[in-house]
Amino acid sequence: MGKNRSIRWKLSVLASLSLVAVAGITLLAVRLAAESALRGTVRGYLISTVEQNAAQIECVPQRGAVDEALYLPWDGAYLTIDLDYMDVVNDVYTALYTADGLMLYGENPLPRETGQVPFAEGRVRQIEAGGFRYELYDRHLQFGAGETELWIRGVVPETEGLRQLQQITRSLLMLLPLLIALAILAGWLLAGQMLAPLRRIEETAEQISRGDDLRRRIPEGESRDEIGRLARVFNGMIDRLERSFEAERRFNSDASHELRTPTSVILAQTEYSLEKERSPEEYVDALRVVRKQGRRMSALIDDMLAYTRMDQGPERYPFVRLDLSRLAAEAAEETRLLHAEDITLETEIEEGLFVEGNAMLLNRLTHNLLSNACRYGNGLVRVRLGREGKRICLSVEDNGPGIPPEEREKIFDRFYRSDASRSGEGTGLGLAMVKKIAQMHGAELRLESTPDAGSCFSVFFKDGTF
Ligand code: ADP
Repeated sequence: MGKNRSIRWKLSVLASLSLVAVAGITLLAVRLAAESALRGTVRGYLISTVEQNAAQIECVPQRGAVDEALYLPWDGAYLTIDLDYMDVVNDVYTALYTADGLMLYGENPLPRETGQVPFAEGRVRQIEAGGFRYELYDRHLQFGAGETELWIRGVVPETEGLRQLQQITRSLLMLLPLLIALAILAGWLLAGQMLAPLRRIEETAEQISRGDDLRRRIPEGESRDEIGRLARVFNGMIDRLERSFEAERRFNSDASHELRTPTSVILAQTEYSLEKERSPEEYVDALRVVRKQGRRMSALIDDMLAYTRMDQGPERYPFVRLDLSRLAAEAAEETRLLHAEDITLETEIEEGLFVEGNAMLLNRLTHNLLSNACRYGNGLVRVRLGREGKRICLSVEDNGPGIPPEEREKIFDRFYRSDASRSGEGTGLGLAMVKKIAQMHGAELRLESTPDAGSCFSVFFKDGTF
């Protein structure tokens, strides 16, 4: 079937072809069965009539040898035909013939041609004579020493039943084109009705792609069939697309917003410095401000790039079975070296714990939690790694001011920073990354925090040790 044809066309053709095939096969089967049943009955009558009549004929030397019989002088003797001989019964005509085709006795109103067909014993034959069809059955009779050779022939015209059957078949065959046309029409209408929802899906998809209006949805209706499911899946896909476009839009606007502050500060400082001659101290101060804001912008850009990369597909971050104990110990050690003066770092790390994960991502997760604990804590940071039931738990605890309950969800949002921490370094992306990395690893992230006592961030991984 042509690739460019519509499904509607294909469905109607398929439906009508199958309909016609089924109708044709049924017609043929009924016709064959009826014909063979009819023929069987007729042939049964034919053979039994011929055989019964053959038993009624004898050859005797003189008259009077058999009672109630017809005597025909024959070859120096007499043929006796019993009065039970049936000329016509059940439409079967029987006649007695000499071997050279001369009819001696019997009923034969059928066309003369039936008598001219050569004799042959033992099977029913079909012949055509005078425009009609007949079934014919011959029985050989032999009397005496073989000189007297006779034949009984039974002939039965094709029955009315068979003729009607043929008539009906012929009319039905003539109706076949009409049937095909009707089937195509019905198939076309039915397929059109069934495919109407598909057409609506196409229209909506077209409107979405043309107008870029992701708020449009396909009417789903009640139906639970394939098209109903397709509509739901399609709408689900548009939902996701809309959400991710919205997220991207928000990210762009948040990112520009975050970059605007340091840019404005840098511009203001340079304008100030260039306005008129300043003292060397003032220049140094201005340059320090510019450097600070430049670093902030650089950190922001780094974090933004890292964060958006995480959305670009898992193939960027292949997972392996890795030693989390070693990774946590090394991260703790680096933090200790970096904050040797102001932080006391305690570790309780169980050796030889493995997880399925990406080293770069888990490194970032650990560092982000550690740097927050150093930044917002009060000098004491505790890193723990151990088994918790069937999972492996990595936790970073500090003795800082804690996080108020109303902020405990928000701090994981991108660019969210509590008012108190706004002025400090940091980009507001650290915990958003921690959340995303935990999700990528199928890990659970938990936060416990007590005001003025400290916070503890825990990540529960599936155990990949064995
Ligand atoms: P930031 O770069 O500002 O640290 P994060 O996403 O890491 O961004 O953190 C978001 C906010 O959550 C921080 O600005 C801070 O207000 C709060 N926060 C994060 N970690 C802690 C902590 N250990 N103790 C108290 N507050 C924290």
